[in-house]
Amino acid sequence: MNEAMKKPVIEVNGIGEETAKQLNGLRIFTVGDLLEHFPFRYEDYQLKDLHDVKHEERVTVSGIVQSEPSVRYFGKKKNRLSFRFLVNQVLITVTFFNRAFLKSQIAVGSELTITGKWDQHRMTITGSELNRGGEQKEQTIAPIYSVSGKLTTKAIRKFIYQAMNQFGNEINEILPQELLQTYKIPTKKEALSRLHFPPNAESMKHARRRMVYEEFLLFQLKMQAFRKANRDRTNGRALPISREEIEHFIKQLPFPLTAAQKRVVDEIMQDIQSSYRMNRLLQGDVGSGKTVVAAVCMYAVICAGYQAALMVPTEILAEQHVQSLKSLLEPFEIRVELLSGSVKGKKRAERLAMLESGELSLVVGTHALIQDDVLFHNLGLVITDEQHRFGVEQRRVLRDKGENPDVLFMTATPIPRTLAISVFGDMDVSIIDEMPAGRKQIETYWAKPDILERVLDFIEKELLAGRQAYVICPLIEESEKLDVQNAIDVHMILDQHFKGKWKVGLMHGRLHPSEKDAVMESFSQNETQILVSTTVVEVGVNVPNATVMVIYDAERFGLAQLHQLRGRVGRGEAQSYCILLADPKSEVGKERMKIMTETNDGFVLSERDLELRGPGDFFGAKQSGLPDFKIADVVHDYRALEVARQDAVNLIHSKEFWEDKSYEGLRRYIEEQGVLNGQKID
Ligand code: ADP
Ligand code: MG
Repeated sequence: MNEAMKKPVIEVNGIGEETAKQLNGLRIFTVGDLLEHFPFRYEDYQLKDLHDVKHEERVTVSGIVQSEPSVRYFGKKKNRLSFRFLVNQVLITVTFFNRAFLKSQIAVGSELTITGKWDQHRMTITGSELNRGGEQKEQTIAPIYSVSGKLTTKAIRKFIYQAMNQFGNEINEILPQELLQTYKIPTKKEALSRLHFPPNAESMKHARRRMVYEEFLLFQLKMQAFRKANRDRTNGRALPISREEIEHFIKQLPFPLTAAQKRVVDEIMQDIQSSYRMNRLLQGDVGSGKTVVAAVCMYAVICAGYQAALMVPTEILAEQHVQSLKSLLEPFEIRVELLSGSVKGKKRAERLAMLESGELSLVVGTHALIQDDVLFHNLGLVITDEQHRFGVEQRRVLRDKGENPDVLFMTATPIPRTLAISVFGDMDVSIIDEMPAGRKQIETYWAKPDILERVLDFIEKELLAGRQAYVICPLIEESEKLDVQNAIDVHMILDQHFKGKWKVGLMHGRLHPSEKDAVMESFSQNETQILVSTTVVEVGVNVPNATVMVIYDAERFGLAQLHQLRGRVGRGEAQSYCILLADPKSEVGKERMKIMTETNDGFVLSERDLELRGPGDFFGAKQSGLPDFKIADVVHDYRALEVARQDAVNLIHSKEFWEDKSYEGLRRYIEEQGVLNGQKID
């Protein structure tokens, strides 16, 4: 950005010290910040036909008052005013809260224009604005800004207007002419002006498109520059991989690898063999066979004389991985051990010593792996499973334990492409998009909770056929204690119901690790037929004989999580079932349950979930790692994001970009990000 844009906001006429301070509170420090304080929405004063308005949408209508307004008071300050209103032959109710003073302006037979939120079921508008007469306002779409303290939207509009007058001519174009022409988008100055003072909706959208593209392009350029810098810097190690040894190992697996598994193994091997440090994301749906891929890669690294570490989020998962890796790798005389919170005292000291001496070549663990006293002899490969559960910081700590080990992040949460390329824009991505042959689709049903009896009958039928069932209990956010209580209650009900016939186990996060082990062991031996659990079984648990997954209060879960849970069944030969007990109230909630019954494809689900809930919700609050875009929205604008990414890739690798004058603005931006000289990659 150029000099004028970097001036403190106080240089705008009309902004004094006090106002500047308040603007600072909104993270507006410079003139540029002020001009890029975009409206978070627009009030649309264009008159609309109520038939075209969706439930809960904001609307402006004009009509004739049909009844004297009645006012009700609730206590001293609260009141509700309402009256009947005829809009284009449709009789509706208009309600205003705490604005009894409007009463004098509302006379039967007079014409008014009302803006507010439309409730389709009650045929009511909850008003936010009232104007006399049926005339449209002159500015039909008005920007609304996020404000705080004494600042109002009106005041901000005034400051921006003033800033545009004073500094508008100094707004530099950062995008080259060529891109403006290709996409037929306005200049930055034009775009800013139209966004803040939209002459009409069309022109505002056009302007928005430009700013969205710019924001995505800058972000992607930064990511791509990081990626290129990482690759150019040969700070990794080229491990000597023997293809024959790998082939031999793959041949003696109990099953042939799928084509997708082979492909990702190749991709990962190339990274490991090359001299740059691998930074790769491996995505694959539940059951797509990521563990085997991990095993092949770790085997290869260990054969080359290095150590490998696998970090997982839970104790249960760690133990399962140890089991399956042992069975795969011990025939090759590779030692696999666990390092987790439950490994203590002498045992722990022993394992630490073996890691440091290099005697132990493969360690699987939880957070215990990143403690200070864990030292490796020569760590060559770090794999994290369910990577989004680990913070960036934890991943960095583990990576720093070796000298630039290669890093592979595995996730079974199919991250929609749109999100993957924005969150993990600086990573390479491998995808296992194929299931091992012979997998049956899990039949999924959505039922109201009041047919629990029938669900229990269904479970019993499967048990009689020799199968087992999971029952997952309501998830109550923010409170593990309540989750546990729920599981205990449900366990009691089922235990009563099946008394003397079947054994019902109980699993939750508050059990001691050894108790958890016992419960899991009993279930996997089919000594327990039904396992009531909180979501601790979500990842990784593998009991192929289980064919029924019942999920209570399914509407409380994200689709990605429901899919994870559902993935606990369908792991054997038999047909499996998932029953979602849910009574969602909202349309979105119902839609989500329906989608679950319609597809088993995790990628399809995650795309739909993203559309329905938005990216923040997708991973759970604050975990998404998404950058804070000022105007762009990764869900809504995902096409633009893809275009911007492709453009960024092309630009970064083109000669013109680094030499041509027209790209100077973009180049300077990258330099300012400290990508090219900085060492930080994360
Ligand atoms: P993920 O970790 O991706 O959820 P796993 O690696 O746990 O999946 O694999 C799920 C199951 O499928 C395991 O029992 C595994 O042995 C089996 N499996 C993996 N790859 C194949 C394959 N190519 N053919 C048949 N079965 C496979
Ligand atoms: Mg797995």
